[in-house]
Amino acid sequence: MRMRKTATAATVVLALAATATACGGKSGSAGDKPKSEKVFSGDYKVAKDVKIDSPTLKKAQQRGKIIIGAKADQPFLGFQDSDGKRTGFDIEIAKMVAADLGFSPKQVEFKTVDSNVRETSISKGQVDYYVGTYTINDERKKQVGFAGPYMTAGADLLVRKDEKAITGPDKVKGKKVCSIVGSTPLQEIKKAKYGAETTELGKYSDCVKSLLDGQVDAVTTDDAILKGYAAERPSKLKVVGKPFTEEPYGIGMNKNDKALREAISKAVEAHIKNGDYKKAYEGTLGKSGSAYEEPKTPLPRY
Ligand code: GLU
Repeated sequence: MRMRKTATAATVVLALAATATACGGKSGSAGDKPKSEKVFSGDYKVAKDVKIDSPTLKKAQQRGKIIIGAKADQPFLGFQDSDGKRTGFDIEIAKMVAADLGFSPKQVEFKTVDSNVRETSISKGQVDYYVGTYTINDERKKQVGFAGPYMTAGADLLVRKDEKAITGPDKVKGKKVCSIVGSTPLQEIKKAKYGAETTELGKYSDCVKSLLDGQVDAVTTDDAILKGYAAERPSKLKVVGKPFTEEPYGIGMNKNDKALREAISKAVEAHIKNGDYKKAYEGTLGKSGSAYEEPKTPLPRY
């Protein structure tokens, strides 16, 4: 394959956290005042006396709480505001599953885990399961188990509102494109055919800051994530709107815990059927402009 110089010149500014619990904490999104107070937050009926032959679940029952990995800087998906409150579609999915596994909201602990440390965090048992724009693919299936897909996104480009030249992935040759270490859209945009010059960071909100500051020309990741940033800064940012990959989202968990995978798949199916899923989608992602699509059920088992 003929490599263009621009495609290989990656500016790597690794913000890799030393531990899997890289705390995004009260990070906010690119310095904005988040609109998370306007985002839907549901209550789900908590199942009683749940007995499942899952090592992960048994451990969680013993400790009296379930630990869920999530993102903290993705508005409308996985966001933590300055009061510590978590909102977004992924947070709702996480809560629905926790309720079906028998954990009340007080027994749910969220842990911020960014893209680059997801597999480590799950396989080391630092989280019981993970819900955070996590694409199911064969490479990751070697390390973790997935329930889903519970929705499908696609890689797109976020640019400044006045951007004229970047109208699609075929127009990023020689442009500075920011993405996240350990994410599938970064792997994609690094392909020689795009000719982009990549900036690789640890958090999406840092890429958005770089875009606003003029240090990069575009940010690439899933459209569902980018629409959230654009919705918060409509006068400054826009999504190009030409998705160029398929990103089926799964709930990640220990690879060998088949019983947990089955229980989580069933929980998601039940909430799709009873309408909780749609209500949560419309109150979160629906508000940042992602169109609702009902996931196919039953979810695939493998
Ligand atoms: N869905 C993509 C992935 O799992 C990008 C979003 C993310 O980094 O969470 O890599």
